[in-house]
Amino acid sequence: MEFEPLICFEVHAELKTRSKLFCSCAVDPDADPNTHICPVCTAQPGTLPVLNKRAVEFTIMAGLAFNCRINRRAVFARKNYFYPDLPKGYQISQYEHPLCEDGYVEITGDDGKPYKVGIKRIHLEEDAGKLVHEKGYSLVDFNRAGVPLIEIVSDHTRNPIRSLKEAKEYLETVRQTLQYMGVSDCIMEKGQFRCDVNISLRKKGEKGFNERVEIKNMSSFRFILDALQYEIKRQSELLKAGKKIVQETRLFDERKKVTIPMRTKEDAPDYRYFPEPDLVELDISPEFVSLVKEKIPELPAEKVKRFVEKYGISRSDVLILTKQRETADYFERCAEYTSNYKRLSLWVINELFRLLKSDSIGIKECPVKPKAFSELINLLSDGQITEQIAKSILEEMFVSGKDPSEIIKEKDIKVIQEKDVLEQMIKEVIAENQEIVEKIKSGKREAINFLVGQVMKKTRGQANAKLVREMILQQLDYLSL
Ligand SMILES: [Zn+2]
Repeated sequence: MEFEPLICFEVHAELKTRSKLFCSCAVDPDADPNTHICPVCTAQPGTLPVLNKRAVEFTIMAGLAFNCRINRRAVFARKNYFYPDLPKGYQISQYEHPLCEDGYVEITGDDGKPYKVGIKRIHLEEDAGKLVHEKGYSLVDFNRAGVPLIEIVSDHTRNPIRSLKEAKEYLETVRQTLQYMGVSDCIMEKGQFRCDVNISLRKKGEKGFNERVEIKNMSSFRFILDALQYEIKRQSELLKAGKKIVQETRLFDERKKVTIPMRTKEDAPDYRYFPEPDLVELDISPEFVSLVKEKIPELPAEKVKRFVEKYGISRSDVLILTKQRETADYFERCAEYTSNYKRLSLWVINELFRLLKSDSIGIKECPVKPKAFSELINLLSDGQITEQIAKSILEEMFVSGKDPSEIIKEKDIKVIQEKDVLEQMIKEVIAENQEIVEKIKSGKREAINFLVGQVMKKTRGQANAKLVREMILQQLDYLSL
């Protein structure tokens, strides 16, 4: 009996606004505990919330990027529950009238074809505070209380996610899109991107849905996939044995890599939702939506397509270059100064990434300016320096921030330009190594590498090996006439 998983996610992403959703306290995940709090976000009696307009804009941007309908009428609602990190005893969220509904996120499905994962809704709400557990007691930090959050709920019934691979692809696409738009930094370690995961199984070909299991508060892609894998195994064993799946909330034990029951899943009535009386209903005009739409930058999928067409580099390389918007921007600034896009992309991916990684810095802090980087690519492409020398010049550029021409001048690197000089050297090498030449002529073409090596030695590594090879071949052909 074969089962297929149906997976959906509730992704919570903290918005990158400067202040909180209903007060003017700063949003700063790195601040000391309880340094960004006020009477509003700590729920002092008599305080009233004032909505952050930017948070509404960000939510609409996400809605548009994920192909949702933007509802004209949106209503905030109180979601009532008790927890020590929730001072009001309720969370202001959206229930019956969210800002965005009925969209999709396009991913590459397991069959290699585009697959539109259904999005049920995207709503705006406030985050709760954070409990810090010490030995024997717990402390509460309210810095996070009231930080704006969007919840992106994928659809369980309309094009759900069907495999672990699709799950990963979906989460990566959502995160990358939010980062591209500057809507959220989505740093998982800082809790800016967290997921509740829902999974049910059904027999392949079946149309109905079995009971779902929810795994709460996951904040690492690896753990999400581990938990899903465990659930697929657990649920298929139960179904095979003819047992029923209980609808419940489970917790993932990160060490043992198993899920354990937490509680039977609460339903919406448990939260006693009702419209938030302290906030007016939102009336989102089409004009406002079109203004927000203009703020959406080129999104990853479009960028990939354009890069492949414009620069003629392979899709797999483009995917690496566009993974982060900053890298794609850097590449494009470089591309203004060189036409050798293929070599440029390889050098960004291999050499520049290696140096950035070894210094643990991002491309934003890269000390090599795009123009200088392209100058180096051009010197290499023209055969004026070898790969080896280009690499050492780049390392120097990375430290000093100087241009390649300056470094060449300072270090007195001989730029080989005159083919005549090379031609003379090659003649010498051929004359000195007649036995090798005989070998090549008798068909052992690989022996040519030895001659190339000898020429390179004479130039102290400063010639273009590819050019030397071509010139040797030319000369040998001439000799064999
Ligand atoms: Zn506050």
